[in-house]
Parts: sequence; C-alpha cells; structure tokens
Amino acid sequence: MDQTRLRELEDQCIQECAPPCAAHCPVHVDVRALTSAIATGDFQTAFKTLYKTVPFPEIIARTCNQPCQAACYRKSVGGDIQVAALELACIQRYDHLITKPMLLPQKDARVLIIGGGLSGLTAAFELVKKGYQVALYERENRLGGRLWSYNEDQLHGEVIHREIERIIDLGIEVHFNTELTPASVSSLQFDACYLGTGAGASNPFNLLTNPNHSLQVNTDTFQTSQANVFAGGSLLRPPSTIFSVSDGRRAAISIDRFLQNVSLTASRVNEGAYNTRLITNISKVDSVEIVPPAPTGYSVADAIAEANRCLQCDCMECVKVCEYLKHYGSYPRKYVREIYNNLSIIMRTRTSNKMINSCTLCGLCEEVCPTDLNMGVVNNEVRQTMVKTGKMPPSAHDFALRDMAFSNDARVALNLTADGSETCDYLFFPGCQLSASNPEYIPKLYQSLASVLPKLGVMLRCCGAPADWSGEQELFAQTMLEFKTQWLALGKPKLVLACTSCLRMFSTALPEIETLSAWQVFEAHTLFPASRQYSRSLAIHDPCTSRYVDKWQDAVRTGLDAMGITHHELEMSRDLTECCGYGGVAWLAHPELVQDILKRRASEDEADYLTYCVMCRDLLAGQGKPTLHLLDLIFGENLDQLARRKGPDYSQRHENRLRAKEKMIKLITGKEHPMTESYERYTLLLTPEMRVTLEERLILVEDVQKVIEFAETSGESFKNQQTGHTLAFFKPNLITYWVEFSREGDAWRVHNAYSHRMELEGRAS
Ligand code: SF4
Ligand code: SF4
Ligand code: SF4
Repeated sequence: MDQTRLRELEDQCIQECAPPCAAHCPVHVDVRALTSAIATGDFQTAFKTLYKTVPFPEIIARTCNQPCQAACYRKSVGGDIQVAALELACIQRYDHLITKPMLLPQKDARVLIIGGGLSGLTAAFELVKKGYQVALYERENRLGGRLWSYNEDQLHGEVIHREIERIIDLGIEVHFNTELTPASVSSLQFDACYLGTGAGASNPFNLLTNPNHSLQVNTDTFQTSQANVFAGGSLLRPPSTIFSVSDGRRAAISIDRFLQNVSLTASRVNEGAYNTRLITNISKVDSVEIVPPAPTGYSVADAIAEANRCLQCDCMECVKVCEYLKHYGSYPRKYVREIYNNLSIIMRTRTSNKMINSCTLCGLCEEVCPTDLNMGVVNNEVRQTMVKTGKMPPSAHDFALRDMAFSNDARVALNLTADGSETCDYLFFPGCQLSASNPEYIPKLYQSLASVLPKLGVMLRCCGAPADWSGEQELFAQTMLEFKTQWLALGKPKLVLACTSCLRMFSTALPEIETLSAWQVFEAHTLFPASRQYSRSLAIHDPCTSRYVDKWQDAVRTGLDAMGITHHELEMSRDLTECCGYGGVAWLAHPELVQDILKRRASEDEADYLTYCVMCRDLLAGQGKPTLHLLDLIFGENLDQLARRKGPDYSQRHENRLRAKEKMIKLITGKEHPMTESYERYTLLLTPEMRVTLEERLILVEDVQKVIEFAETSGESFKNQQTGHTLAFFKPNLITYWVEFSREGDAWRVHNAYSHRMELEGRAS
C-alpha cells in the first residue's frame, strides 16, 4: 500500500466535502455553523460566522437569491432551510459587533476599480485589506449600482449607505460622477484594473470596446484579454448580489496574484458555486415544516426552531453502523491519514497499530458508504504491508496464528473418505471453530449429509482465516496451497461448508473450487426435522461473512420455516448484517471494543437470536444474549438451556478439536483413536477463577502443562521456601510462560500463570 493508494482512499471518503448549502453559495457561507449556533440561541456566533465571508451582511440577507436553498437536502422533507431569513435574524441583533478589519501595510501598487456596484465594492474591500492603493470610479453620484432598484421595504437606502460607508471608510479613494473614457483612462496611473460596470455600460478600454472584438474574460480568474484588466459582476452573468460579491472577491485574489507575479490558477479549487460530492442520507429523516419568518423578521424562538430543522448535513454513514469506527471518534478520511502516518514512522512507536488491528474486516462500511469505501480492505492491506516490511510486531497476531497452527497440526487435522477410497465426490469441511465449540455436532452433521450425498469425505482443519486477517499473506498462501494439494489428491470434490468465514477464504483464494453450504443440502433434500419448537420468535443474526451470500441466507430461513420455528429479521440483516466482533483478530487486539460491539448487536432486538456461525453464537451467548446455532435446532435438546450456554474457553476449544477428530475416526472407521501428548499426563487443579485468569491472559491449559513438564523433567525451577511453591518457565516459540505451582498427590495445583515476550539471558540453577 503506497502513498498514492492511500491518497486515493482518503479522497474516496466524502465526509469532509462541503454541505450543498455552502457549496452552492458562491461565497461559501458556513450555513451549518450558522444554523448550529442559532439552534442553541447563540446569535452572536452565528453573526460572526456570516460576517467572516460576507462584507455586506444585511444587503445580502435582504437581497440574496439563495442558491443555498435550492440545493438544501431538507427540501424534500419539509422544505429548505430559510437561510437568508436566519442571517437577517442575526444581523438584526448583532450587527453592532462589526469591527474594522486588519489592513496589511500599504503597498506601492495602485488598482483602479471602475463601477461602484457590489462586485466593484467587494474587489475594492478585498484589495484595500491587502494594502493596495484603491481608486474607485463611479459614473453616478452614489455607490451601490443596482442595489437602488430594490423597493425600500426589502432594502432600505439607509442599509445601503451604512454598509457601503463602512467599506469606503477603510481608505478607498472614490470619484463620483466620473465616466471614464479611453482617453481619460490612459491618463491614469494604475497597475491593474477591475471592471465592475455592469452589462451595457461602456468601458474605457479600446480592446474591450472594439466592436469587432467580443469581450474575452476567463471566468475562473476574471482576467480579460488585456492582462492587467479584470472583469466581473453582471457584466458576465444575470444580476445577483451574492454572485457579484463572489466575483469581486475572486477577481481581487487574481489581481493580487497578478501584481505579485505568481500563478493566477495554482491551488484554486472549489471557488464560486459548485456541486458538492457530499451525500446525506435522509431516508430516516422526519418531515418538519418550514417555520415562516414574520414580515419584520424572525422572533428568537422561531429562528431557533427553524435553525433546528437544519440537518447539519454530513455523511458518517459508516460510523453510524460501526462500533469500531465510532470508538476512535472520527471517520475514515482521517483514519486513512493516520494509517499513512503510522506506516511512515521509522523509529518511534506506531500508535495506530491497535487501531489497524481492531477492525473486524466485516465490510459493512462498504455496503453503507455512498462511495463504497471498505475500511476492512484498507486495514487488511495495511496489515499485509506492515507484516511484509517487518513493521507489525509478531506478538500482535501470535495467539490467533498459533491457534490456526494447532488446528492444522497432524494431531488435529484429518482427511477421511467414507469407504477408504482415495477420492470422494463431496468433502465435508466443518471449519475449526465448529469442531472447537460443538465436537458432538460434527459426526451428526456428517451422517445427515452422507445420507444424501454419495461418496462424502471429511476434512478437519482451519481454512486459514486467521492468517488472512493478520495480513500474513505468505502464510495464508501456504495454507491454501496445502489445502489445495489435499483437495486435488481427493479428486477435486465439491466442498460442503458450515461456516461462512471458510466460504469467504475459499471463494477468494480458490474460486475454482465448487462450494455449497450444509444448509443448502438440508434444504434441497428436505433434511430439516419437522416440528421443532421454541417458545419465542427468534431474530436471525446473519454472520458478517454471509453478506451477499443469498443462497446460504435463504437456505437458513427455509430451514426455520420447515422446522416450524417462528422467526423475524433484525433491522441490520442480510447484506446489512453486523459483525459479532470475532472477525479480523479484533478479539485479540481490542477485547474491550469487542464487548461494545457485542452489546450493540445484542441490544438491537429483544428476541433471542438464531445464527449459523458458531463464533457469533458463542460470543453473543457469552454476552448474556440467548442465542441458538442452527445446529442446536436440528440436533439439540433443551433449547432454552442451549441458547444460554456459554462457549468453551480457549483450552477447551483445543481439547474439543481433538475430540472431534476422535469421533469422526470412530464413526467412519469404527476404530478408537485416543490422542495424548506427553504433557497431558500432568493433571492440573484449577479453580474457576484461575481458569478465567488463564483465559484473559491467553494462556492455554496445555501451555501450563508444558511448563510443568519442562520443570519436572529438566529440574529447572525456583522454589519459594516460604510458600513451598515452585516457579518455572518454558518458551515453546515466541512467548515465555511462567507458572507457579505445587504438587498435590497425583495432580499439580496452579497458583498463578503469566506470559511475556522478553528474552531472558542466563538460566536457573
Ligand atoms: S460512509 Fe464513511 S467512508 Fe464512506 S464517505 Fe461516508 S464517512 Fe466516508
Ligand atoms: S439541511 Fe442544513 S446543512 Fe443541509 S443543506 Fe440544508 S442548510 Fe445546509
Ligand atoms: S470492516 Fe467492519 S469493523 Fe471494519 S470499519 Fe468496516 S464496518 Fe467497521
């Protein structure tokens, strides 16, 4: 993942794009900030917000044709926000706060402004602030141009005088009753000129008045074919006070650049009115009618009510549905920036590692994002880059990868065909977590499938998901290669899966393999038992890896109907389903966040849940949410109890995988296959509290047994003379495990255990 790719991803997130009101306003009044301040009764802040971009606030509030309103996302849900009336509400209360702007030290350059309408006055205002000497020529005996054509109720002459005088008082030299001609203009000293004369007025530049020459004005820079002459206002477009202000300001920027001899166009984006990319989802917004202003303007209460109708438009669609994005308090555009900075760090601590590893890679963000940005893909790609470049500490994913290695170890992995032949037509691949959680369901499920699928083999191992989630591309590729070699040797059987994470891995890495779900087989062959009973309607929690896998989702629902189970949908289901928190090693990187993810999901419906991923079931049930696996309904007894049972701890999961293998060997070959390792002879005495401690510290019972075996066989240990306890350590791979224990008859009582990744030099003697 390089800088260009990260920049593209950053740009894909539209959250920082302007709302349509500000984008369509040619001077970009921050309407969101204005309404947000008024909504809390803070008219003063609202006024300051307006004055920041509009030098004639009252003239504009009374005359603006409001392009902001035409674009407002509130339009179809009660009517557009009455922005100009709200602006007026601030001005009526706070325009006494206007202070003289800061002027830069005076420069030598002199700018001629021809025409005292709003665009000329704005150009004069902006240039005088920058320190230029500004001389304004007006053919009438008053400034304001077209402003005087408004009726007095809408725009009183007093307002025009007041707001214009404030500008002129900054030091603009004004010449009234002066129509410049080509002859008179040539006698004037100036470095640049702005033509704000309005349509139809004559202008003093030969080039521009030549009847054979149409007026050439660049509408981005306002520069004319005569380099030091600029033009704007209603000379270029239909009259509009706000566009006149915008033209005057943009032309002033160009004139300043021209006089400083720098590029007129560099880094000038989104000037004037433009179409924003920001999209705000209004599908759940209630319609609220416009609060109309009284003829004299809004009362405080009405202005507040109208301002409260503003949606404060933004995107945040992904953050609304993702606990992970919410947890870090920002949104993907900023996260991508943070990730980029994290990747660039060479020596210091990479503070974003935890954030990168806490995403569950569930893909819901892409489903809701208007631009399809998938932060799961981003985080996974970044993990891959960090692993490849040695920037990801191996300890970050060590536990998950060891768990995978255990499942694919010869002691646990299994390939068996039904009749002992070398090949099979179908291959049942239950996935390592189903074996780990419910080993007794593996032979039962196999038997049901085998009753309708000819030549069904079984393969017990892990699909490689932990390697993929950890960004360990090489390890993942190697795991897939091992699987493929065995699959080829088995005669390319169709894969019968019971876990959508396995499906995701195989369909991504080995799309040539045909897969189907156990539930589809049950559906096609009417294997679902009839008349199962559950006392309440079950809400279906689709696993996040089932997103877009309609066939699996449909088969589960058909199965529930066939079994007579009442069920209903969660609001976030099927393509919109949420992760339980297990995906993408988040459970390892950020267990507290996973608890929040689970709480959120569990609280979305009062009903008990039904799912078809065993990790979703175990995690939700562990959170106190009664949850059944589809297999509980098919094979289980006492469903109420099954829905409430806690999943096994990490050590029991290892044990269960071994048992699943024993059971399958027994079922298919009729042979016993007890599997013991030398360390298993060390029987442990563990209190329930000690089991919890081990679980929290990611220490397995077998890790403890290995330490004790090592201490007992090597004699390397420390003895505490006071307590009589023995302290010993063992380092099988990356991690060193320490255990404090004592002997009780034929067993060993564990008093404490912990682990670390430091290297110890020297040995106990
Ligand atoms: S959904 Fe999220 S990532 Fe997509 S544009 Fe909106 S804030 Fe950005
Ligand atoms: S609802 Fe508010 S923020 Fe959204 S477009 Fe309208 S005025 Fe702007
Ligand atoms: S992939 Fe899932 S967890 Fe990660 S950011 Fe997207 S929605 Fe959130």
